[in-house]
Amino acid sequence: MSFPDTHSLANVALSFGLLFVVFTPLEWLFAPGKPSLFRREWGTDLLFFLGQYLLWTAPVVAVLVWIRAHVDALPLESLRETVAAQPYWLQFLVAIFLSDVAIYWAHRWSHSNEFLWRFHRVHHTAERVDWLAAHREHPFDNVYTRLTENLPLFLLGFPLHTIAGFAVFRGVWAIYIHSNVTLTPGPLATILGSPRLHHWHHESDHCGRVNFANLSPLMDRLFGTYHDPGEMPTRYGIDEDLAHGYVAQMIEPLRPRR
Ligand SMILES: [Zn+2]
Ligand SMILES: [Zn+2]
Repeated sequence: MSFPDTHSLANVALSFGLLFVVFTPLEWLFAPGKPSLFRREWGTDLLFFLGQYLLWTAPVVAVLVWIRAHVDALPLESLRETVAAQPYWLQFLVAIFLSDVAIYWAHRWSHSNEFLWRFHRVHHTAERVDWLAAHREHPFDNVYTRLTENLPLFLLGFPLHTIAGFAVFRGVWAIYIHSNVTLTPGPLATILGSPRLHHWHHESDHCGRVNFANLSPLMDRLFGTYHDPGEMPTRYGIDEDLAHGYVAQMIEPLRPRR
């Protein structure tokens, strides 16, 4: 864990301000029901947001950099040269596809594996899903997800600036698909997904059974977990008796099983 200085506090305030200014009006205009700004557990999700930006991003990035250095040392030169010789559009598609396959199965596994679920269920304790609740994530789950989606890119030798570009896009997209809006990207929803699909992943009765894709719902179509009833769900969360406070949720997955 690292501690924030004035510069990082200014950055987090700016990031929060930008996201707030973009997503609050969208959630107000395109809410499926009556919009409410400071809904229940808004403060808890704000703590998750601050924790992610101020405490956890630096160690998560440090872990990824450390793993990348080890992956770089693997004898995969000929594979990497073949990838680098391809046109950019093909490299882009291959990178997106492999990351999506990896994150689809890693996410699906985090719902079926008891150890992984202890950490991933923190994300699913949200009873209201919106742009701020997107940040409700245990740091272990965060490392696991970021590593899974980046590992194919590390193996294929993609340069750091390309990986960083993908990471920013995936991060912003993840906030959008959690936002509480009926707004979809139109025909692009077929390949890029929409908030409605991910909201069904969080829905109480369907949690952990449908829509595991982080980006493209083609993964869910391919592996038989696609679910879209055409409207937003109304009930979210999991049927487990868990504490809902920030600190309690950080500690709870680490405690021995009751
Ligand atoms: Zn989610
Ligand atoms: Zn999940």
